[in-house]
Amino acid sequence: MIRIGHGYDIHRFEEKPSKNYITLGGVQIPYERGLIAHSDGDVVIHAICDALLGACALGDIGKHFPDTATENKDKNSREFLRNIMQKVNVKGYSVANVDVSIIAQTPKLAPHILPMQELLAQDLQISLDQVNVKATTNEGLDAVGNRQGIAVHAVALLEKKAI
Ligand SMILES: [Zn+2]
Repeated sequence: MIRIGHGYDIHRFEEKPSKNYITLGGVQIPYERGLIAHSDGDVVIHAICDALLGACALGDIGKHFPDTATENKDKNSREFLRNIMQKVNVKGYSVANVDVSIIAQTPKLAPHILPMQELLAQDLQISLDQVNVKATTNEGLDAVGNRQGIAVHAVALLEKKAI
């Protein structure tokens, strides 16, 4: 039995920079400003979490880790992902593959794709050839194209574990 889920997230860049990096897929990437968030703002991991939860019919990341909860402040989003993977396992599923599209006008993400895939594969308990991360610009269109933030779409396919 297989299940599919989709996730989407978007975070805005800070107007007054308080950080000189962003965190995407667990990788810290130098940038002139951070992403605004209650947690570490890892928009890649948030979209993947929603795809996994969607596939399991378990709601969304905000339901499991509210942004009003003080324990989630500045939280490393890899902890959210690992926690959600436990829920996926409890439901009897493992990840068949995950595909991610990052939409960002800046910064340039090409050098960071492989490190992201490596960290994500670890947390998703899969091999490197089961996770794919792509990055595209928005061709200057809309808020993302205007460098106001970063958006991410993710799709996850789960399969029932052999007993
Ligand atoms: Zn988010």
